[in-house]
Amino acid sequence: MSEVIQDGMVVSLGYTLRLANGQIVDYSEADEPLEYLHGAGNIVPGLERELAGLQLGDVKDVEVSADDGYGAYDPEDVETVERGMLPANLPLELGMVLAIRDSDGNYSEAYVREIGDREVTLDFNHPLAGQKLFFSVEVLGLREASEEELAHGHPHGVDGDEDEDFDDEDIVDFEGDEDFGDDDVDDEDIEDDGKPNRPGRYN
Ligand code: ZN
Repeated sequence: MSEVIQDGMVVSLGYTLRLANGQIVDYSEADEPLEYLHGAGNIVPGLERELAGLQLGDVKDVEVSADDGYGAYDPEDVETVERGMLPANLPLELGMVLAIRDSDGNYSEAYVREIGDREVTLDFNHPLAGQKLFFSVEVLGLREASEEELAHGHPHGVDGDEDEDFDDEDIVDFEGDEDFGDDDVDDEDIEDDGKPNRPGRYN
């Protein structure tokens, strides 16, 4: 009997993600599929649900509503802060994603939506919030997760190692009074390379 995608399986997925207007916003490189642990909430719920039961080599188009993707866009989740509250040496760019640590030590992610002379607008919505998502996927690999992977709730690399954590220097310590967000962001999911997280990821 062939293996199928189900809870406890590590899946290697080739994917292309388009928006309703046809724009491609993300895709996996040919030699770098997205690896995720099925059933662990590593990817958006609407995609994970539709992948259950697929076999190695299967291809599928999956439409995911915003609610089953990155959620509705919340206009309240946007904050304008003084430029001086961010580190002076931080090379701000529009659209870059910042990992922000507030005074309570909580992490949240924001992307830079506007840069003014004195103020910066940070958007704590996911960059794809409010969007219907159109995935085209191909199952490129399928294996049972190790006990360690199950315990951690995510796959490890081919060499069995943890993914590298982001560097501490990538974190922006925010000293404002504002209490940003309420999500505890998993360290490994935080990137500040100026691009949104791989949209297959569920944050
Ligand atoms: Zn781990």
